Amino acid sequence: MKRLHTRVWLVGAAIVAATACGSDPAPGTTAGQGAGVSDDASSDATAGGSDATGTDSAAAIPRAKVYLHDPLTDQGQTTEITLVAPTDPSAGLAGPYADVKNCLNEQGGEEIVRFNQKVGAFCKEVHTAKAGADGTWLHIDPPADASDPNDAFAEVQMYHHVHQAHGYFKGQFGLTDLDYPLDALVNVNLYIEPDIAVLVGSPPGWQGYPNAAFVPKEGFAAFKLPPRDQGAIIFGQYGQTDLSYDASVIYHEYTHAMIGTTRLASMLPDVYGLDHMPGAMNEGFADYFAATMTNHPVIGAYGISFAGPHMVRDLSVTRTCPDDLTGEIHADGRVLSSALWRIRAAVGPDRADAVILRALQAFTKSTTMAAAAQLMIAEAEAEDAVMAGTFAKILKEHGVDTCQRIKEWKAWKVEESPDKVAYSMMGKQEFGGNAAFPDGVPGHLQFYVVLPSGTKAVTLRWQAEAQGFFSQPATAIAVKPADPPTVNFVDTSITARAVLPMSPDPGDIAWQSLTLAGKCIGGADGKLFVLPLNQGQNTARVTRMEVTIHKSMPSGPNLRSCE
Ligand SMILES: [Zn+2]
Repeated sequence: MKRLHTRVWLVGAAIVAATACGSDPAPGTTAGQGAGVSDDASSDATAGGSDATGTDSAAAIPRAKVYLHDPLTDQGQTTEITLVAPTDPSAGLAGPYADVKNCLNEQGGEEIVRFNQKVGAFCKEVHTAKAGADGTWLHIDPPADASDPNDAFAEVQMYHHVHQAHGYFKGQFGLTDLDYPLDALVNVNLYIEPDIAVLVGSPPGWQGYPNAAFVPKEGFAAFKLPPRDQGAIIFGQYGQTDLSYDASVIYHEYTHAMIGTTRLASMLPDVYGLDHMPGAMNEGFADYFAATMTNHPVIGAYGISFAGPHMVRDLSVTRTCPDDLTGEIHADGRVLSSALWRIRAAVGPDRADAVILRALQAFTKSTTMAAAAQLMIAEAEAEDAVMAGTFAKILKEHGVDTCQRIKEWKAWKVEESPDKVAYSMMGKQEFGGNAAFPDGVPGHLQFYVVLPSGTKAVTLRWQAEAQGFFSQPATAIAVKPADPPTVNFVDTSITARAVLPMSPDPGDIAWQSLTLAGKCIGGADGKLFVLPLNQGQNTARVTRMEVTIHKSMPSGPNLRSCE
């Protein structure tokens, strides 16, 4: 489970997505204005706002049962609502702004082919939910067995909440980018052929998908599938968890679809390394809008918690740059989302959301955190100076305005860190081999060590692991006294005092280390800056770090003096 989970999270990142959460009906519908748990069933009947009301002259009112938030928050109770009228109730849940299909654990789905061999299959996409004889959908309940990978209730839940999200963005703010039936898949599972499963060391047959994602039309390549005519939001069934049951996860993925593929979708080198913050901001906005739609700051109370309580994201917990950065986009998105949540409290939800959405329109694939802050402050300024001041003050307090991705190198263990996320460095393979980064692929973060007066040397140690079977980590560091090493955006060369491969530690081969002295540390007191590098083909992850300051000159095979 661990390995599969880790792998899928990476997929999620690569296709601009992955789990989030929030929950609740949208503000703008009367039910959405409570403290996240207002279960006023009947008032939810106007789902989707003015443009999306299911006025259906002939047929019965399309009543249905859904979780307003998620099974945990709603304590297992569904609530009766009115769906936006589907185009043809006898054909399933395809309507003006959502086309929801069940992805069944049955043969007949798209084949996954590698090296001219069928290695597996995607689940089979079918409309299974159908209106009853009375024209309603009330006969569709949550399944008795929560692990049911084919339940029709997931379709109803998805259809309702996608229209809620559409109604929020269009009804409140006039956004029309997603004015078409967005494809949405529920109960996503993958089939692995038995002989292939043996080869890759996974169980054969149907595999749960422990994630949710917005997949752009060309993003199905992550599943080794061909491009589609349009992007989709997809939701897995994994063990006892059906990710489509969590409205906050739906709103999160819907926001990714709204942001689209032309905004916040790059991973480019900047002076500090490989800048993952556009992707982190994409996650941060997805969390923020899920939270504002539900009027509740917790994302993933049900839909993420299966992966561990530390994965659930609470926007009311302040995160700042650089101290809380991890290099992982969901965790680091919390710097922005927690700042926006405070801004929302200070200026009011409607004003905050309007300013943030207008600023978002001007974002590009590679908008930086600092540029994002300026765009939001400028939009606020266009309305009133006091609000602009609030935006500026809170964004600054969270470090959004200047976000330099440089943290102190100190004793650290991944399992004891709040997010339990290793410092990860992408491999050369992900950039097409050796050519792109001759010195190694830079990490997303840099580190600094404070050198007290009289320091003769400093030992830096870490434990690193490389992804892939039998793969050894090939890590290195670029070091520079006084100010940070820099990465050249154009030729990806690195300016530093030295680039030094980390070596097996003489005291413990589970560790890699270097002891730096002489010109490596500059010979004076001050700061030493360190940029981690991955010289291997596969992703490397640092799971433990240590630092030792030496006041007398040490010796040993890993001593470097940069002479
Ligand atoms: Zn996401």
